[in-house]
Amino acid sequence: MTIAFEHDAIRAQFPTLAQQLEDQPLCYLDTAATSQKPQSVIDAMNHYYQLDNANVHRAAHQLSARATLNYEKVREQVQGFINSARLDEVIFTHGTTESINMVAYGISQQVNANDIILVDSAAHHANIVPWQQLAKKTGAIIKPIPLNDELSIDHAAFDELLKLSPKLVAFSHVTNALGTVNDVEILVQKAKSAGAITLVDGAQAIAHFDIDVQAIDCDFYVFSGHKMYGPTGVGILYGRFDQLDQLAPMLTGGEMIKTVSFAGTEFGDLPNKLEAGTPAISAVIGLGAAISFINALPKEQVRQHEQSLLTYLQQQLIQLGDIRLYGANKHNCGVVAFNVSSEHHQDVGILLDQQGIAVRCGHHCAMPLMQQLAIKGCCRASIGIYNNKQDIDQFITALRNVKELLL
Ligand code: PLP
Repeated sequence: MTIAFEHDAIRAQFPTLAQQLEDQPLCYLDTAATSQKPQSVIDAMNHYYQLDNANVHRAAHQLSARATLNYEKVREQVQGFINSARLDEVIFTHGTTESINMVAYGISQQVNANDIILVDSAAHHANIVPWQQLAKKTGAIIKPIPLNDELSIDHAAFDELLKLSPKLVAFSHVTNALGTVNDVEILVQKAKSAGAITLVDGAQAIAHFDIDVQAIDCDFYVFSGHKMYGPTGVGILYGRFDQLDQLAPMLTGGEMIKTVSFAGTEFGDLPNKLEAGTPAISAVIGLGAAISFINALPKEQVRQHEQSLLTYLQQQLIQLGDIRLYGANKHNCGVVAFNVSSEHHQDVGILLDQQGIAVRCGHHCAMPLMQQLAIKGCCRASIGIYNNKQDIDQFITALRNVKELLL
């Protein structure tokens, strides 16, 4: 079912947004850190705890059967949502960070000393540090992929690096610090032609774009539930079956085995092999509700709404003056990064908070990018489906006050 685009009705589904902060309506512009949750997600999780609470996959009783059915239905929902070819290519994790760590750990037996790993130089630390750990363990060499003037991946530089025949290429679909959008399909295709394994970090893309992992053609695509109107504690590791099946499990124990004896253990098949232990069942159920929520939205209108808000936000910041924008252009997705003249981003964040505005200030887990921009950090305003023009106007008024106080 697709609902008509009535923005007020969509916004009204998010109970957190109905509150006041500092006698002002809460103006939530921190969706890139975590999105607010619609009532349907909260209800689905409550329902599980109130009526279905049981462990999955294990017991013979009805509650467990119900929990298992609902849990496994979400796997099917995720498969449809990202168009993976097989159900067992969808692994539930606790988030993007864990998903990337699972790949970096699981692939280590395939990586040799001096193998090259190319990493997006604007990546989130979650897509840098696990590769560094892998390099430490194997003697592989990490090479950052340079950025172009728009601060997305520089294709010419990327082409040069591919001549080194990298073992693996990891990059963001959308960067979290700046909201720059990389041409995933082209980058993956180039990396594949060079024989590399590809991992795309979709944490910032998943709530904004239709994701088709078969069209992208990557080996791994990862994201978190909490950035797509779902709960914290659940994420997805999508992997092409042949690649996923080769990963050594980072976690071992219950759920992931076929047989165990003191003579040795035989691991189970995918997806269980990569899902050791009791999963975050309620969070998975909540993720299913979040997918239903997104699927019921008119995608094209949502995209237009978010894009026009972002453009309006960029324009208003430029008009305000004394604002340094980073990597802002019309192709960005969901995020505007800025500083107020040379003022400290933290001071700006605190003064905005005192006016009911929630933005994020800091290095945004992208220190190598901050180093390239020659700044310690910046403020980041980010947009979700619930934001409206009033939010942007409230934010700009508050920022004008900040400017008057600081400059
Ligand atoms: N990658 C990107 C692009 C992100 O924006 C984030 C979170 O901000 C992460 C990875 C890490 O996600 P999580 O903390 O949910 O594991």
